[in-house]
Amino acid sequence: MDTPPPLGKKWLCQRCGNCCRWPGVVRVNSQETDEIAAFLGISVEKFIEDFTEITPDRRGLTLISKNDGSCFFLTEPNICQINEVKPTQCSGFPNTWNFPGWEKSCEAILIDEKDFDQAVQKRDEKT
Ligand code: SF4
Ligand code: SF4
Repeated sequence: MDTPPPLGKKWLCQRCGNCCRWPGVVRVNSQETDEIAAFLGISVEKFIEDFTEITPDRRGLTLISKNDGSCFFLTEPNICQINEVKPTQCSGFPNTWNFPGWEKSCEAILIDEKDFDQAVQKRDEKT
């Protein structure tokens, strides 16, 4: 990882949606495909056929994108249609993985871990 959060702190997502708009892969493993298909109320086969494609390295599946490169499941204003079951790649960013320069496009803010749950609650009340 390029920049892990400082000890005792975590970044709190501000739901700007920017990471959902970056062109690139959103990997889904077999457990995630099962969970997302169940959430959408469709078969795993239909989910894979209609909403995923092979990753460029041909090692797995990625969620499909819209023409502008954003994730197919992002709707305005910055709502993830599968938020409850979104892939680990999505829920882990930027705390468990990120890349050089990620801070320029991500609006997450650093919060003390002890205050994190309260900060999540406050954010959710506002959005
Ligand atoms: S699945 Fe949801 S959180 Fe992940 S990139 Fe798509 S819209 Fe964003
Ligand atoms: S770019 Fe950062 S603040 Fe914006 S939605 Fe993604 S993780 Fe959250």
